[in-house]
Amino acid sequence: MKILVAVKRVLDYNVKARVKADKSGVDLSNVKMSMNPFDEIAVEEALRIKEAGKADEVVVVSIGVSQCQETIRTALAMGADRGILVETDQEIEPLAVAKILKAVAEKESPQLAILGKQAIDDDSNVTGQMFAALMDCAQATFASKVEVGEGKVDVTREIDGGLQTLSLNLPAVITTDLRLNEPRYAKLPNIMKAKKKPLDVIPVADLGVDIAPRLKTLKVEEPPERSAGVMVESVSELVDKLKNEAKVI
Ligand code: AMP
Repeated sequence: MKILVAVKRVLDYNVKARVKADKSGVDLSNVKMSMNPFDEIAVEEALRIKEAGKADEVVVVSIGVSQCQETIRTALAMGADRGILVETDQEIEPLAVAKILKAVAEKESPQLAILGKQAIDDDSNVTGQMFAALMDCAQATFASKVEVGEGKVDVTREIDGGLQTLSLNLPAVITTDLRLNEPRYAKLPNIMKAKKKPLDVIPVADLGVDIAPRLKTLKVEEPPERSAGVMVESVSELVDKLKNEAKVI
């Protein structure tokens, strides 16, 4: 079985996002970029499935600028076998990502695709769902447990008020939730080895996919600054303020 994992290069989660002066988007110049945390979980899960003898190959794919090769190399250092960069300088919306992943999947024929539940830069939470719809295959989002069986995969999902377990026929698409696993760190020797692993770069135009944007960003703004708090002397003063100033009780 082959597993395809989608990894996105995003602003590192420890970095505070700065909005560009013209409010057209987030300023990504000279900031640390990393693999989307949910995608690290996706890579880890694919590796665990392979290590359990239930898959033979883990292929990671990223769509974006040339520097996404670093993100792919990180996944290769974690243990993935091969990488594919679909290269473009254009901003790619989730629908276009889903279409590109479909084009890659048609070439690679994976039985399982694992994506993050959402990218922490756009918080769209749609790519996996759209990709599965385009592939016309089963999908299970927000996975907190994955068990691969013969021609099927059982996925436990985190839903409001509890856990739901679905059994999907393969091929299938899964998106990862935070509690699925704890991704491993790449060890130095593996980082060195990863440099020699195959990484194909495909210009997006070669896939013949319509990536024209459907969305227009009107403006991006910082959240409003929080006003300073006040120290109260007693519980009764707090209750009085909640009643008469904040009017929340
Ligand atoms: P989103 O729907 O944008 O929140 O992204 C959900 C998931 O889709 C991510 O966690 C990735 O696994 C995948 N994805 C989105 N954009 C890309 C991209 N440019 N390259 C590779 N994978 C992506």
